[in-house]
Amino acid sequence: MATKRDYYEVLGVAKDASQEDIKKAYRSLAKKYHPDISKEPNANEKFAEIQVAYDCLSDPEKRSNYDKFGTEDVNQGFGGQGFDGFSGFGGFEDIFSSFFGGGSRSKSGPTRGRDIEQEVTLTFEEACYGVKKEIKFARFDTCTKCGGTGAYSKNDISTCSRCSGRGRVITVQNTILGQMRSESECPECRGTGKKITKACPDCNGQGRKRVSKNIEVNIPAGIDNDQTIRVAGEGEAGTRGGTQGDLFVHVTVKDHEFFVRDGNNILLELPITFSQAALGDTIEVKTIHGPVKMNIKPGTQTGDKYRLADKGIDNKITRKLGHQIVIVKVITPTNLTSKQKELFKELSKTDETSGNNIFDRIKKFFKK
Ligand SMILES: [Zn+2]
Ligand SMILES: [Zn+2]
Repeated sequence: MATKRDYYEVLGVAKDASQEDIKKAYRSLAKKYHPDISKEPNANEKFAEIQVAYDCLSDPEKRSNYDKFGTEDVNQGFGGQGFDGFSGFGGFEDIFSSFFGGGSRSKSGPTRGRDIEQEVTLTFEEACYGVKKEIKFARFDTCTKCGGTGAYSKNDISTCSRCSGRGRVITVQNTILGQMRSESECPECRGTGKKITKACPDCNGQGRKRVSKNIEVNIPAGIDNDQTIRVAGEGEAGTRGGTQGDLFVHVTVKDHEFFVRDGNNILLELPITFSQAALGDTIEVKTIHGPVKMNIKPGTQTGDKYRLADKGIDNKITRKLGHQIVIVKVITPTNLTSKQKELFKELSKTDETSGNNIFDRIKKFFKK
């Protein structure tokens, strides 16, 4: 079924249209799309849509609820959230079936509980190693006192007299084109077919109760920023025996001071001294798996990369193991002591005389 269109849009009237304007718009549209006379494509659907929109907007109370909550039936979604499909008056499929006698999808059946979305922020290390996080939130759970029936005891549930337990009622509407029969959810029992004579005091007859939850979520090693974990069955309780919704945990990973993530690889910029770059050295480098010895080759330049194999993220989601990539940055010395200055001067003299100096080689190249 297509998504529910705005009722004002359906009737082609402004949000502040008068009751008279709404009636006029409905009349002309109903004539145009009446299934018995219309040659328009999708006339049946259009006509049903118009009926639903008119039923809501022509009733000042329903209209006011619709304006405020986006649904004419305020009890349908808690605080206006979570409504799905048509509600209140029969609805599209009910009218459709009343015309053609079939294909009705009952709204009074089990309804799945809403999904819940939560955010969690992890440190860089928590994302690398995986972590158990406590997620605190509130949700509607099946009331434990009444087991979801909403009744004080089993003896306090009787058959709804208005619909004789069917959960559906037939409504006859007088339209300008004659009488129209439609079937809709029983407003008395809200489709349950049952009447509760004494409500459960814990949930006020709702069958569900808002409770605080504290759930431990297993976050697997390798989770990355902006990824989402689905915890099945930890959403809100369904109604009328419907299944529970899911919990979705959106993950944000904080930046590390030094490590940068690149897929499952970890990049690390490593400053080394001028003499380490020139002469080479063996140094200890931090990785997420602990310190690792790394050999710096003599003549290392800024931007040279060293790969520490398998020292990246051991991703439990993709089952891949990354590497650590060390990017060397040679620090040119500043604030030299007089002793160091002397040594560099000595060094520069050897550059000029060694014949192996890069500048000498360039000079020679151009003299040829
Ligand atoms: Zn209860
Ligand atoms: Zn009923």
